[in-house]
Amino acid sequence: MLVNLNDVLKKAQKEKYAVGLFNTTDTDMLQGVIEAAEELRSPVVLGTAEILLPYGELKLIAPSVIAAAKRAKVPVVVHYDHGLTFTRCMEALQLGFSSVMFDGSTKDYETNLAETREIVKIAHEFGASVEGEIGHVGNASTGDEDLRDMYTTPEEAKAYIEATGVDALAVAIGSAHGVYKKKPLLNIERLKEIRRAVDTPLVLHGGSGLSDDDFKTTVREGIAKVNIFTDLCLAGKRAMKEGEEQGLDYLEVRNLKVKYIKEAVMEKMKLFGSVGKA
Ligand SMILES: [Zn+2]
Repeated sequence: MLVNLNDVLKKAQKEKYAVGLFNTTDTDMLQGVIEAAEELRSPVVLGTAEILLPYGELKLIAPSVIAAAKRAKVPVVVHYDHGLTFTRCMEALQLGFSSVMFDGSTKDYETNLAETREIVKIAHEFGASVEGEIGHVGNASTGDEDLRDMYTTPEEAKAYIEATGVDALAVAIGSAHGVYKKKPLLNIERLKEIRRAVDTPLVLHGGSGLSDDDFKTTVREGIAKVNIFTDLCLAGKRAMKEGEEQGLDYLEVRNLKVKYIKEAVMEKMKLFGSVGKA
C-alpha cells in the first residue's frame, strides 16, 4: 500500500528501528526492492532523486514505482529524494509521490527555511510528507575536515523544524554520499544531542559503505530512516560482471541483477531492524 513518511517513521522511531530508502532508477531495482520488502514483511521507502533523473526520467519512472507501491502487501512510501528545484518537487507531487525531500542545504539558511516552508505547505495539501536537511551531507570524495564544518547542530535542527514544519529531518553527522575512500567517523554524540532536542524522525544519508556497527549504533540512538543507493548499484554491477564472465545473455543478466539487488536490500533491512514490522 502507498503511504507517506509519517505512516512508517513514527512507529520506527518509537520501536527503535529504521526504514530503508532505496532509490530505484529502473524496474530491475524496483523489483529487487519490492520483493525484498514483501519477503521480509518490512516497510520500505522507494524513490528517485533529482540528480538521478538523467538516468530515468521522472515521468517514465513514477507510474511504475507508484503502481508497485499501491500493489505491494507492505507499506511503501514513494519519496522524491534530494529535490533541488521547486518545479521538480511539484512535478513529483502531481505524479503521485507520497513524499518529497527538499534539499536547500547548499543555500543560505534563510533561503533554505523559506523555500522548505513553502514546499511543506503545498505537500501537506497533497497529503504528502516532507523531509528537509539542515547542516549539509556532503560527498564522500570530500575530506573529513571539510565535512565537519557542515555537521548539524541541535539548535539549528530545532529552529529549522519549528520554522518549516518538516515531517523528517536529514542530519549531517559524518556520513557522505557515494563510495567512501576511507572509513567514515560518525559523530554519535552529536546525534544524541539532536535527538534530545527534537521529536521529529531523523534521517541518515550516505548509508552505503557504513559498517554494521555504525547502523546499529545510529538506529539505537535515534535514526529512523537510512538512505541507500550506492550499494544497490554495486550489487547490480557485480551481477553484470559475473554475467559477462559466465557468458549469460541479456535477460539472464537482468534477472541476476534483480537477485543481487534484492539480497543487498534484505541485508540492510535486517541490519535496520525493520524485518517483520510491516
Ligand atoms: Zn542524500
